[in-house]
Formats: sequence, C-alpha cells, structure tokens
Amino acid sequence: MNMTDIIVKKRNGGKLSDEEICYFIEEYTNGRIPDYQASALLMAIYFVKMDRDETYSLTRAMKNSGDIIDLSEIHGIKVDKHSTGGVGDKTTLIAAPIAASCGVSVAKMSGRGLGFTGGTIDKLESIPGMRTALERKEFADLVNECGIAVTGQTEQTAKADKLLYALRDVTGTVENASLIASSVMCKKLASGSDAILLDVKCGSGAFMHTYEEACELAEIMVDIGRGDGKRTAAAVTSMDQPLGNAVGNTLEVIEAIETLKGKGPDDITELSLRLAGLMIYLADKAPDPDSGADMADQVLTSGAALAKFRDFTAGQGGDTRVIDDYSRLPQPCHTLEIHAEQTGFVRTLDAEMIGSASQHTGAGREKKDDDVDLTAGIILNKKKGDAVRTGERLATLYGCDENRLKQAEEECRRAFEICRERPEKDSLIKTVIGI
Ligand code: URA
Repeated sequence: MNMTDIIVKKRNGGKLSDEEICYFIEEYTNGRIPDYQASALLMAIYFVKMDRDETYSLTRAMKNSGDIIDLSEIHGIKVDKHSTGGVGDKTTLIAAPIAASCGVSVAKMSGRGLGFTGGTIDKLESIPGMRTALERKEFADLVNECGIAVTGQTEQTAKADKLLYALRDVTGTVENASLIASSVMCKKLASGSDAILLDVKCGSGAFMHTYEEACELAEIMVDIGRGDGKRTAAAVTSMDQPLGNAVGNTLEVIEAIETLKGKGPDDITELSLRLAGLMIYLADKAPDPDSGADMADQVLTSGAALAKFRDFTAGQGGDTRVIDDYSRLPQPCHTLEIHAEQTGFVRTLDAEMIGSASQHTGAGREKKDDDVDLTAGIILNKKKGDAVRTGERLATLYGCDENRLKQAEEECRRAFEICRERPEKDSLIKTVIGI
C-alpha cells in the first residue's frame, strides 16, 4: 500500500477501504508517514468528506491505536459524558455529581481546553490539591466508592487522535463531521464505559454552526457508539451564547458550586438537569429521560448532589473547604469592567468572541503546552434578552495580567450587540438523538 495513492484516491472523490484507513492510522501513529502527507489526506477528507463506512473504519482504527481501558471491576452501568466543546460549559461539574447521587456510576475521561473552548480538567485543577491524572485502578476504586471520578486522558489511549488532532488544529481541518466524530468516539470507545452521553454543541461558539450540521454529527456519533455495543444518546444544544454567566476556570468552578447549591443561572441549571436526566436514563436508573430529570431535580433540591460533589472533591485530593469559602480558590489580581454604550436589549452575545476574549485574558491556551491563568476569565453581567441602560456593566474581566485584560477588552465589548426590541429567547436543548 502506498500513501500517495490513498491521498490521490480521496482527492478524486473515491471511497477509502478499511485496509487503506487502517494502514494510514497505523503507519502515521508509528511515525512512518510524514505530517505533510497526513495533512494532504486530512484536507482531501475535509473537502470530499467520508461516508459512514469510512468514518466507522477511521474510528475503529484510531481506537485501536492505543490502550483500551478495562473498567469491568466498576459495578453497574458506567456512564461517560462528552461535550463537543463550548464556552462556559461547566455542565460536567454539575450533571456528573447529580447523576452519581441518583446511583449512576460516572466514569468520566476529560480533556483540557484548547483555543476558545474550555476543558473540565483545567477547571478541576482550580481546586487546590485536586488530582486529575488517576491510575486506572484508583479511578475504578473511586467510582466504586463514591459513584464518580474524573480523570484526564492518558497518553496511551487513542494515540492516533493525539497526533492527528494537533495536526488538524494547525492545518484548518478540524470542522469536518467525520473527523470530529472519529476523534471524539475513538476516545470514548477506548475509555471502558458502557454508556455515553454526548452533548453536541451548535451555534456561533461551536464547531457545528447550524442545526443540520450538528444533527448530522450527533447521528454519526450515536451510530458509532451503538455499533460498538454502547448505549449512546446525543443532545444537540445551543452554543450561540456562553452557558451561564462565568467563563474561565476558577470562575466556572464557583458557578458550578453555586448551581449545586441551587443558586445557579437558569440556563446552566436547566441544561445540567436535562443532561443528568439522560445519564440517569442511560444507566437504567429511570424509565425515561424526563423521569431522570425529575430525579435529578430532587437530589439538587435536597442537597445530595452538593454532598456528592464534596465527596468527589475529597476523593481526588481536593480541598473541600473551597465549597464554603471561595477565597480559598486562586484569586485574580486585576479586574476590568465593560459598560454599555447605549440603552436597549442584548440582541446577541457571540459565544466564540467571548471564548476568544476569555482565552486572551489568560484563561485558555493557544497551543497545547501553554500554561493557563486559573484566575482569568469573564463574568457576563448581561446575557441575551436582558435590558441594559447606557453605562450599566455588561461584563467584568478577571486575571493576573493587566495587559492581557486590556487586550481582551475590545473583543469582549464587540461580542455584545444591543438593539431596541427585546429578542426572542432560543431553546437550549434543540433535540435529543438516540432515545
Ligand atoms: N473534540 C475532540 O475531541 N475532537 C474533535 O475533533 C473536536 C472536538
């Protein structure tokens, strides 16, 4: 087999065979195909697209490029959750302890933030002492003891994805449904869970900008998960504006804890309850997702979910005192307020621009190895549909580098569009696929 023939075949609109895809993944992972040929193939796939057979083959080959984690010692149906990436998306920190307090075994593998999207591992590391690189045995023991554990992906799982994702990131080949589906699902299939809940984001702050594209991605991923014997469902949810009011690692941890105390913003509370309801349903603890959401509501109201978050934090070495005293979390040295220049209503609040402004405050990374400022980020004082008066505060920027806050200021201001008429509110959950 020859890599040039494979590139030319795809470039000319051909369908790659399972053998050709396996050859590419195996040889590339082992360093026998140079980046320039892999980039050429990715670009051909980006334009010509892959069909379902090719996407399944790619996912399987990528899954088999590293270790497959055995979590069979965990009792019950193990549920994992994955978001395709958003701005202000701290739902895992809320939905996972809610589901765990309804008896679900939540075995969650998470990633770090890249570009304008955040990652659960960075958020958790805002909590002093929290360990996020757990050995397999400890991970399984924690899920058995506490019902929940969250760990970073190891270097040994889905090795091809680590190499290919980094290459896609710098060659403009991220936004393709087959490439995203195979990248997400190879990690989920290798991670040893029995059920997978996908949160497929759709809108200006997501890889998939339109509802149709997001549904296409959700359907492919659900098919892949089921084809591998996992219970899989996908919620297609809005990412036109950031979720909740907080964007940035420590700020989001505080908002997640407030939500678990029953004092969170409506959008993040609603989405977390619905996602937890789906996790509870996938784990066979509720007859349908709505009953699951009712169970979720009960444990949120009773305080059981907050208690579960406390146990989870303690289990992974985190300082649980932060839950009652936010001053124990990393503290920013600087703040910068942005005020409205006209009276009216917030018509749009561009999620991508807020994500990018937050990244520029220091909360996100441009390259995989960049450090993040855990204190940095943005509190949105106004969201879509809110009334504003000239001079009122729209947003507050936080961080330890004053210059970075100044650099982010203009972008954050431009993310707000003010109009005269109050705009209609969009629905947060657009559809659920696979139920
Ligand atoms: N998240 C992933 O893990 N991979 C992608 O390609 C996009 C989002």
